Amino acid sequence: MKKVFFTLLLVLLVSTMFFAQGPKYVFYFIGDGMAVTQSNAAQLLQSSLTDAETPKLNMYKFPVQGMTTTHAANAFITDSAAAGTALASGYKTNSGVIGLDSTLSNVLESISERVHNMGWKVGIISTVSIGHATPAAFYAHQPSRSSYYEISRQLAESGFAFFGGGDVRYPNGKKGNQENIYDYARENGYQVIQTQEDYEAFDPKNPGSEKVWIINEDVDGGSAMLYSVDNAPAFDVEDITRTAIDYLDNEKGFFLMVEAGKIDWACHANDAAGSIGDTIAFDNAISAAMEFYRENPEDTLIVVTGDHQTGGLTIGFAGTKYASDPSLIAYQNGSQDAFTAKLSNMKDNGELNSFEDDLLPVVEEFFGLYKTSANAENEALLLSALEENKLRAAFEAYVNGTENTDESYLLYGGYNPIAITATHILNNKAGLGWTTYSHTGVPVVTYAMGNGQEMFSGYYDNTDIAKYLFALVK
Ligand SMILES: [Zn+2]
Repeated sequence: MKKVFFTLLLVLLVSTMFFAQGPKYVFYFIGDGMAVTQSNAAQLLQSSLTDAETPKLNMYKFPVQGMTTTHAANAFITDSAAAGTALASGYKTNSGVIGLDSTLSNVLESISERVHNMGWKVGIISTVSIGHATPAAFYAHQPSRSSYYEISRQLAESGFAFFGGGDVRYPNGKKGNQENIYDYARENGYQVIQTQEDYEAFDPKNPGSEKVWIINEDVDGGSAMLYSVDNAPAFDVEDITRTAIDYLDNEKGFFLMVEAGKIDWACHANDAAGSIGDTIAFDNAISAAMEFYRENPEDTLIVVTGDHQTGGLTIGFAGTKYASDPSLIAYQNGSQDAFTAKLSNMKDNGELNSFEDDLLPVVEEFFGLYKTSANAENEALLLSALEENKLRAAFEAYVNGTENTDESYLLYGGYNPIAITATHILNNKAGLGWTTYSHTGVPVVTYAMGNGQEMFSGYYDNTDIAKYLFALVK
């Protein structure tokens, strides 16, 4: 018994000494707009579509979870700039501000800047534009998140080893008369990769450059990567995460932040299919970090969190009471965004004149929702009289134009009236409800695995995540 006790004591002592070193490989995954309802909607859809034992999301396999508050310095409901700054630096600031305190006079050091100065390699990935608020909070300091050009210049000046994901907005400045940002990055030593062909030719283990910036060839009007459910041919978030790991891996250490930015965009648009698709893609990227962890368990820490909740997504809707069926979401053939583009094409080409003959067939094709159909697969997708009336009103609003009133905002939130109404109908039939087109103030879940994981258990603020990381890496 004594012997067992001493052996235990020795193991404890050695492990304390060992873990006192802290991690040297740190992954920080941020699902923009992702709280427990976003991840659980993905979990529910995934498990409702398979007969196998419920496959768990990777983030749900993490040994430690915490609950995290997200408010900004000046608002209960934060924006991504204040949340990103808190997650990166450990300090609250006002909504809209990147990497500065709320007086705008003090620069807040980010965890990525700290470890860069310690000699680690740093990688920053975002599925939206790389100058967007969340990634910017890790390398830029600006009074306004919309200073896109200035933020991009700070990217080029950061010295970080790796940037990847979406493009930048306004590469020549908002007026188009400033130095081209890709040239400026090259002047600062970056290899800039802008096509899928060059990406595929790039060998991250033998790159021939100290710093690289990889831009997805397939981006939308906001310079973001396309939604996962829209099946872009270029690399996805898991691909670029694996490339980053291969590029950054070195003896001294690395830090990699990966943001899934369009979970938030989909939830602003109340589009569960878009949100779930990007949540699953994000979760697949987490598996790449978990593989790295398994090879380097003592030196690796993975933290996954959200910056706030978006849309007020919930599981449960008045019209379906206790009977929800998340599998219906799988009938949607692409993002709401893609459907909006389709409608706008039809309208421009004069192909959207009749509710019955023009609109209903495309609604059935895209969402599975039908009024009368020879090939309907699922009775749950039959439009009720109430739903048909809502869709007809949205059709009139889109075709004839609508005044912006309080009521039209509540109904459509500034989105295409038909696209958002069809999305609402399908989501509601699946038992999913939405309360807002903005963010909410509910806490998010933080998940941790690896060296230092125990610090992330409990109920704490988003600033604490950065504080724990600063404490662990020193
Ligand atoms: Zn956000």
